Amino acid sequence: MLDNQVKNELIQIIGKDRYLDRPEELACYAYDAFLVESEPEAVIFPETTKEVSDILKTASKFKIPVTGRGAGTSVCGAPVPIKHGIVLCFSKMDKIIEVNTRDRYIIVQPGVVNADVQKALAPFKFFYPPDPASMSTSTIGGNIAQNAGGPRCLKYGVTIDYVLGMEVVLASGDIIRFGSKNVKDVTGYKLSSLFCGSEGTLGIITEAILKVLPMPETVKTLMVTFDDLDNTAKAVTDIIGSGIIPVAMELMDNLTLNAIEDVANLGLDRNAAGSLIIEIDGVKEACEKEMKQIIDKVRKNGAIHVQEATSDLEREKLWTARRSAYGVFAKLAPDIISEDVTVPVSKVPLMIRKIIEITDKYGLKVGVLAHAGDGNMHPMIPADRANKEEWKKVETAFSEIFQAAAELDGTLSGEHGIGLAKSAYLPLVMNKNTIEFMKKIKQAIDPDSILNPGKFV
Ligand SMILES: Cc1cc2nc3c(=O)[nH]c(=O)nc-3n(C[C@H](O)[C@H](O)[C@H](O)COP(=O)(O)OP(=O)(O)OC[C@H]3O[C@@H](n4cnc5c(N)ncnc54)[C@H](O)[C@@H]3O)c2cc1C
Repeated sequence: MLDNQVKNELIQIIGKDRYLDRPEELACYAYDAFLVESEPEAVIFPETTKEVSDILKTASKFKIPVTGRGAGTSVCGAPVPIKHGIVLCFSKMDKIIEVNTRDRYIIVQPGVVNADVQKALAPFKFFYPPDPASMSTSTIGGNIAQNAGGPRCLKYGVTIDYVLGMEVVLASGDIIRFGSKNVKDVTGYKLSSLFCGSEGTLGIITEAILKVLPMPETVKTLMVTFDDLDNTAKAVTDIIGSGIIPVAMELMDNLTLNAIEDVANLGLDRNAAGSLIIEIDGVKEACEKEMKQIIDKVRKNGAIHVQEATSDLEREKLWTARRSAYGVFAKLAPDIISEDVTVPVSKVPLMIRKIIEITDKYGLKVGVLAHAGDGNMHPMIPADRANKEEWKKVETAFSEIFQAAAELDGTLSGEHGIGLAKSAYLPLVMNKNTIEFMKKIKQAIDPDSILNPGKFV
């Protein structure tokens, strides 16, 4: 619990109703979708930027840690208040401030859910490309802080590519605004790059101007199955290597297909060793030509079944299957650990072989799920944390998977971020000077380290 003086000051800013500190309330804000839990001392629900600023002034004065929280769907422990203090939850800052498709932007508060941005744009036939599989719950504040990606980021890019401007409250309580409503703006440092992916360690996002795009004329979606996982991966590198950039290329292995089918009964092929959901979009004639080229490539790589979705319903069914892939693993074991290593796309087949070799060595099950077209792998290991021997093997296997990715010129995270999960592995992909440089940035902006302390910097 926070000291009474601090508590009273905070209640003066936001009132009693938006201040929680009973043990059963604090327990709800102690975790995300990763494995570490740590309770805050208070949870606060700001409604305005001014309130956020006043809260940070108080937190700064008393040197209390402050951790921002959207929907808590992070899979790397990023919103877990490991040093306790205050959790700032943005569920009451959830307004869409302006939709302007003529000038191609939308302005939102941080607590707006990604899917609600899509819903607000749909009547204008526009969309916001970043589409994390968690889009029905995860928030724009969380998406920006994690620089979230998603299936269609293969063609369209990730969150950073769509942030035109932001309002951010610094640890001192100072409010800064940068960027603008213009799709071109090179005025000063590109500060959105600094805050995007900073996991709430540099500032609290209170508003964002996001670039939006017109919906494509045609979308085509294909489900392809293979009787060999290696061939599935080779088809991916073959398609990308030939210069075709689909919207999405999602790879799922046999364990993942069966885990989905057990729960959702969508009619997926339980015998396939691997499958790809491939989506393309654009003008009709170009899509038809591209689809033929893709079908030709997958067949050359040994596809056994190729099926194009013939209606929006069929298409949605495939995406429901893909989006549920993480959740359905919960049925296989008490815990799931899902990682996010990313390699250059030509190395996808090799990285998948490495993942299987490493997990086999330790007798662990693994589900291979990947945004394969951009080399972003999500190996998922179902296991039981209470079984210490098994858990040790899981940790060792993941450290070898990180090592293998680094050796293949890959990186630790394509979209999930570092949080608590991967900070120990940063030296695999960054030299000492680079890590020191990030620490200096943090020290300059947040000298008392009150913003999400204990995370990667
Ligand atoms: C089933 C499932 C599927 C997923 N699929 C994807 C996927 O396809 N792609 C992907 O990239 N990720 C995915 N994720 C991970 C997760 O959804 C994303 O990282 C998402 O961006 C987190 O958003 P959130 O609102 O839940 O944020 P939280 O988890 O609450 O917070 C994430 C980080 O953002 C910070 N933060 C939150 N709000 C603010 C703010 N206003 N100002 C400053 N910092 C803030 C927090 O402190 C924390 O560091 C998935 C997770 C799940 C559970």
